[in-house]
Amino acid sequence: MKVFHTSCFFIALVIAVQSGPIPKQAEQDDAFAEAYLKKFYNLTTNNNKGRFNELSFKLAEMQKFFGLTVTGTLDSQTLEVMKKPRCGVVDVGAYSTFGEDLKWQKNQLTYRIENYTPDMSAAEVDDSIERALQVWARVTPLRFTRIYSGVADIMISFGRGSHGDAYPFDGPSGTLAHAFAPSSDIGGDAHFDEDESFTFSSTNGFVLFLVAAHEFGHSLGLSHSSDPGALMYPTYSYRDPKTFVLPADDVKGIQSLYGPNTDKPVSPSNPSPPPVTPSACDHTLVLNAVATLRGERLFFKGSFFWRLFGTNNVQQQLIKSFWPEAPDNIDAAYENTVQDRLYLIKDQSVWAFSAYDLVSGFPKSLSSLGLPAIVKKVSAALFNQNTGKTLYFVDNKYYSYDENKKKMDTGYPKLVEQGFPGVTGKITAAFQYRGFTYLFSDTRVFEYNTSTKKVLRMLNNNYFLKC
Ligand SMILES: [Zn+2]
Ligand SMILES: [Zn+2]
Repeated sequence: MKVFHTSCFFIALVIAVQSGPIPKQAEQDDAFAEAYLKKFYNLTTNNNKGRFNELSFKLAEMQKFFGLTVTGTLDSQTLEVMKKPRCGVVDVGAYSTFGEDLKWQKNQLTYRIENYTPDMSAAEVDDSIERALQVWARVTPLRFTRIYSGVADIMISFGRGSHGDAYPFDGPSGTLAHAFAPSSDIGGDAHFDEDESFTFSSTNGFVLFLVAAHEFGHSLGLSHSSDPGALMYPTYSYRDPKTFVLPADDVKGIQSLYGPNTDKPVSPSNPSPPPVTPSACDHTLVLNAVATLRGERLFFKGSFFWRLFGTNNVQQQLIKSFWPEAPDNIDAAYENTVQDRLYLIKDQSVWAFSAYDLVSGFPKSLSSLGLPAIVKKVSAALFNQNTGKTLYFVDNKYYSYDENKKKMDTGYPKLVEQGFPGVTGKITAAFQYRGFTYLFSDTRVFEYNTSTKKVLRMLNNNYFLKC
């Protein structure tokens, strides 16, 4: 996990400052990328004439899969995705399944846990594996029975390096686990890299339940999904195992092979419906919050955010894939460019992040921002680096905090209309970019010229996102 934490935003910076003769780092990155494409995208050609074209083609394929800008060249964003901890199964193949032939022809399956990891207690491993299988049983007619000897359909084991098949593990991080599509012998089996640190539920290490639930998707016939919210997305993202619900994309995939669960539910009411990944093409989209971060723009919705970088790159990610400690469904977000921190606000709590890391002492209470106790919820926030003021919006009013004097300005709250003539309604998200202030109110966005104090344009919430 630490590799991921320390890599991403910094890679962009390192690459941006490189110039002159090709430095050693670039050669290392090229070799790393080539190995990655060989492993996950079946890059085959070696040192011959066709190599460059093949490499470029495979890079483009990988970029398309992850929703990156398809350039066919190794850029910092592509490298960043390649360095994320992930599953060892390749990303090519039919969309969402391995095809009709690679499914179990029966609904009663057996599993056996062959050995244990020392990272967790045996009871925790047993429980994680059982719950990971139940994720799939809950939405299909598939039923799993544990056996303690002999050959099961799904044999589960922990191993490091070469561990008896043709796909050796790679030490800490990188590949976390892999599994084989349904068939006899090794088919259905799931292997976990013992060089990882597996945990029961902590953000520190990899949650075995989450890794196993993903691998069992392969054991049952699912391939990788390019939906960033899917369990079958190739890279690992922390999610709270206590509240995990199988996302809609995965439900659709597994039910295309086995059909729905026809049993009456054990509990009378289904607690939460399968989460659906928000679409950038939704014209009724209402964003939770918007912020900048080191030149990027971040648009938050539910458990997700869209990241805009460079001239026209948009990437959708789970919030927890960047900040495992961050909450979902946030109320407000802003970047304090002086402190180089991203602040996320939800209900009565505030989180501060420096790049990927939660700043020590956070989350703190809302009142630590200097807001009066009567404020129970902030609906939007922005930091103005020209004035050094942070504005906190509470529906149609706002407060102004002087970051230099470290206190609230007097005379607030004001009506938004007083400070921003022409802007009406409750403010749901806000940010500043290139001298303009963008104030979001439900599905609309006011583009406001801060120097002339005029509304320039009315936009939709999805205006900035690629549809
Ligand atoms: Zn996988
Ligand atoms: Zn293996």
